Amino acid sequence: MSRFIFITGGVVSSLGKGLSSAALGALLQARGFKVRLRKLDPYLNVDPGTMSPYQHGEVYVTDDGAETDLDLGHYERFTGISCRATDSVTTGKIYSNVIAKERRGDYLGATIQVIPHVTDAIKEWIKADLGDEDFVLCEIGGTVGDIESLPFLEAIRQLGNELGKERAMFVHLTLVPYIPAAGELKTKPTQHSVKELQAVGIQPDLLLCRSDREIPADSRRKIAQFCNVRPSAVIQALDVDTIYAVPLAYHAEGYDHEVCRHFGIDAREPDLSRWQEVVDRIRSPEGEVNIAVVGKYTSLLDAYKSLAEALRHGGIANNVRVKLNWIDSEIFERQDTVQHLEGVHGILVPGGFGERGSEGKINSARFARERKIPYFGICFGMQMAVIEATRNLVGIESASSTEFGPSPEPVVGLMTEWVRGNVLETRAAGGDLGGTMRLGAYEAVLKPGSAVAQIYGKTAISERHRHRYEVNFNYKERLEQQGLVFSGMSPDGILPEIVEIPDHPWFIGVQFHPELKSRLFEPHPLFVSFIGAAVTQSRLV
Ligand code: GLN
Repeated sequence: MSRFIFITGGVVSSLGKGLSSAALGALLQARGFKVRLRKLDPYLNVDPGTMSPYQHGEVYVTDDGAETDLDLGHYERFTGISCRATDSVTTGKIYSNVIAKERRGDYLGATIQVIPHVTDAIKEWIKADLGDEDFVLCEIGGTVGDIESLPFLEAIRQLGNELGKERAMFVHLTLVPYIPAAGELKTKPTQHSVKELQAVGIQPDLLLCRSDREIPADSRRKIAQFCNVRPSAVIQALDVDTIYAVPLAYHAEGYDHEVCRHFGIDAREPDLSRWQEVVDRIRSPEGEVNIAVVGKYTSLLDAYKSLAEALRHGGIANNVRVKLNWIDSEIFERQDTVQHLEGVHGILVPGGFGERGSEGKINSARFARERKIPYFGICFGMQMAVIEATRNLVGIESASSTEFGPSPEPVVGLMTEWVRGNVLETRAAGGDLGGTMRLGAYEAVLKPGSAVAQIYGKTAISERHRHRYEVNFNYKERLEQQGLVFSGMSPDGILPEIVEIPDHPWFIGVQFHPELKSRLFEPHPLFVSFIGAAVTQSRLV
């Protein structure tokens, strides 16, 4: 029977609750346990799919096609376990399910209320779709004290009571700030945050205290005393130089030990050798490469979380530090400005939506192609590279995407039908925007002998998608004559999945999001290869 660990956050947001949950998952895994991580988000959107990346950061897509919170990316990168649609839920989804049931008459005339109907639906979700997991870690989004999170807190309170101490544990992540004028770390915000939790009936079993400096023993004792926890269960979480050092740092502070102690488990010590190795590699790279990421949401780097991590994984595999230059593509709308990319070792145009900044991306792809700088186009970045090649290699100047409006030469067009397994998915132009893209894992067939077939070491792959438009197959022949090869296609041969330029050191565009599948201990082959090409490039310039 699975044990549940509920993780809440207090004092302020952005303390890294997702990362911290992922790190605990990794530690329990290193002790030989099977873990599962889940995220409960209190906002009213049914999923984050329709939210602006500026507001919410990246939308993380699972194999089974759910658009989820970016914390699921941390879970996968740290534990290597693929999340499922059932690992992410929001207030919006819970309510829409409850209301749909009410409309069907499933409640048999009852008055529908937050308690018990909404809280029951949350509890069901938390316990659904589980197998033989030893631990289920449930992270509650938001900060304790928010109105929105109350039904979730009530649901986990009830669950804690139903499951008992031996099967449920409450972890609370807080901040212990340093006040320079007083020259002291302050415990009061933590005390208040715990009071807030206690007011809704939750007594945390362990406090994870973020701090920028060592928390003295007497402060920890004070926190323990006021917050009603064991002194050894006040764990300090100091800032670290790399996120991948977090599991090691937590272990050194006794976090996983306290968790096992809470459940009365006499577990073996974790084997953290591979974590230590990887952190050593991160700390002593043999070189550095400069990668320009030419995108749109560059003012909020959370919008490209998985991308940044996948590039780092590529760096670790090549023993180099990857320096990322985030550049707003609008800067490159004027041809001459693109010269600023001179000297970078690789150019990456990531996924994106909408016309703004697209000409800058097209110019960047052209610069990379002509100057023979490694180019990696992801989703939108592939589409822009194909438009560029159609304009400047094939000579069709008006080539464009219908995403930007009607075009006489729609090299990229709206997808209205595609095949998923044996099912034909259809979409109407002007339909709902939420949850209607081509989402999740789809297979692709690679051209034998192509660069990508070599990089993957196979010709059948499965990658995660999130797009509404596709490269128009009708331009294939003309593009291939000019040297842009369609080296990956959907199994039915209709949807272009990968393009590459054989006569170039490294020029690859992919319609999917490989960054979503890169993990610390299983770096994605395309990122390993791209950074490898950047290393070669760095020796040339
Ligand atoms: N906007 C493009 C589309 O919908 C690309 C999407 C993306 O980059 N994720 O097809």
